[in-house]
Amino acid sequence: MRLGVLRYGDLSEQSRTGAYPRVNTSYRMSQSRSLILVTNDDGIRAPGIVALAAALEALGEAWVFAPDRQQSAVSHSVSLHRPLRVHEIGERWFMVDGTPVDCVMLAVRDLLPRRPALVLSGINNGANLGDDVTYSGTVAGAYEGMLLGVPSIAVSDVSYAPVHLETAARIAVKLGTEVLERGLPADTVLNVNVPDAGYEDLKGIVHTSMGRRHYEDAIIRREDPRGQSYYWIGGTLPDQEAAPGTDIEAIAHGKVSVTPLHRDVTNYESLKQFASWEFKL
Ligand code: MN
Repeated sequence: MRLGVLRYGDLSEQSRTGAYPRVNTSYRMSQSRSLILVTNDDGIRAPGIVALAAALEALGEAWVFAPDRQQSAVSHSVSLHRPLRVHEIGERWFMVDGTPVDCVMLAVRDLLPRRPALVLSGINNGANLGDDVTYSGTVAGAYEGMLLGVPSIAVSDVSYAPVHLETAARIAVKLGTEVLERGLPADTVLNVNVPDAGYEDLKGIVHTSMGRRHYEDAIIRREDPRGQSYYWIGGTLPDQEAAPGTDIEAIAHGKVSVTPLHRDVTNYESLKQFASWEFKL
């Protein structure tokens, strides 16, 4: 194997109990099947990525590169100031002690046997709606795929205690199939949110714009046993503004939301306004 990664001498408990595929050193290098890179931000042990990778086998050869721990809300972080370790924990399953973006960079630039046809990030535990996109490690994983020129999709189940991951997995396969056939516009990544419901209970699938979330300034201050203050960011869930045509509205109506995000976040409208400022050095 050309993969410069570490192998566990003994499989982890989860591998032995079947949560991961067994290590198989003789990889089947099937050139005919599309290679699909799978990552997430909830960590490689999250049920969402297990469901996603399993479902994507219908579409191609799924290779999983995912963080070894919870990395939600790390956004587009890259680990530049320490070495990264990659552990092979199963056939085409690789655990990285880094962020989702680290995972995609390592996989696409070095470790995968060939270039992926698709990057799928998820299935996230919880929604990535409106301004959540800014913080999301799930979206960042897909975004990095897009930056590397690979068609990429982020998928989230909007429940924080999902019971219908199979629905989001089925949507991922459906959209993945479409994207493999049609491609995506340049510099565009898809952010997909799926209601936590049975597939037959979905109310539709719609293209949406990115909505607005209102975060409560919930900073929780507490005192440790030595009398020093410490803080928790975030308390209650944010209010949502279900403006027409937005991802938030779609989810409020039980529909799958598909938002095309653009790499270029320039506010072109404001360029005209700034023209009158006459900047001078
Ligand atoms: Mn997450």
